[in-house]
Amino acid sequence: MLVGADGLRSVVRQLIDPAADEPRYTGLTVVYGYTRAGGLPAAPGIYRMIRGSRAAFGFTTDPDGATFWFARIPDAERSREEIAAVTPAGWREFAHAAFDGDPLPCADIVAATGDEVFGGHSYDVPETRVWSTPRMVLTGDAAHAASPAAGQGASMALEDSVVLAQCLRDLPDPASAFAAYESLRRERVEKLVKASAGGDVGEDRGWLYSHHIDWEAKITA
Ligand SMILES: Cc1cc2nc3c(=O)[nH]c(=O)nc-3n(C[C@H](O)[C@H](O)[C@H](O)COP(=O)(O)OP(=O)(O)OC[C@H]3O[C@@H](n4cnc5c(N)ncnc54)[C@H](O)[C@@H]3O)c2cc1C
Repeated sequence: MLVGADGLRSVVRQLIDPAADEPRYTGLTVVYGYTRAGGLPAAPGIYRMIRGSRAAFGFTTDPDGATFWFARIPDAERSREEIAAVTPAGWREFAHAAFDGDPLPCADIVAATGDEVFGGHSYDVPETRVWSTPRMVLTGDAAHAASPAAGQGASMALEDSVVLAQCLRDLPDPASAFAAYESLRRERVEKLVKASAGGDVGEDRGWLYSHHIDWEAKITA
């Protein structure tokens, strides 16, 4: 059998269903960088999240004093070639402009960053109509990529892998395991993709953070 854990631009998704939708542009570009410059606000042991007038920002200070940051910025879609051609200075200027004039530390942190800066568009996959064939199955972003707003895509991929393993352990053949796995996972992951596309998962995050998978529970078809 083949497990397609091959991410946003999954080849296995296309093998399973050649008519599967292409990833959808979320309208956001994420720029990330780090700097060892001194004199910046410190956030040791925490991730400080900031909403500016035009874009969102987050930063943390690592134990060596370096500042790691990201910026999530509304943007028009550019081709993959155009994105690949953006230089570190181009990413720095783009991120700086998104916070320029805001009474926040974001623009200063960006300006203090050298060439350790990179960016790219953010895409999601709201619905993959076919998750499996009798011998192939999708997990993680290959099945359901969420925009990074909720910060839960990797968590969902990990949950998928545990539930798929349970189903393969307890059911007699891959096809019935894949069907049980999909029925256990589809609703939850599509809810996350939808919430993340809205930019916020809302006040009630218990369904995300308190989710429990009982590994010992026996899966039935
Ligand atoms: C900017 C950004 C910030 C994010 N922040 C968070 C966060 O804070 N928390 C969180 O939980 N999630 C976050 N995510 C989402 C998270 O990164 C993804 O949901 C997660 O990586 C999905 O895991 P995956 O294993 O399904 O796919 P991937 O991590 O994409 O792994 C797929 C792997 O398959 C390989 N591959 C692809 N095609 C082939 C092929 N043909 N042959 C062989 N190998 C192949 C790729 O090289 C890659 O190693 C963020 C995503 C982005 C873009």
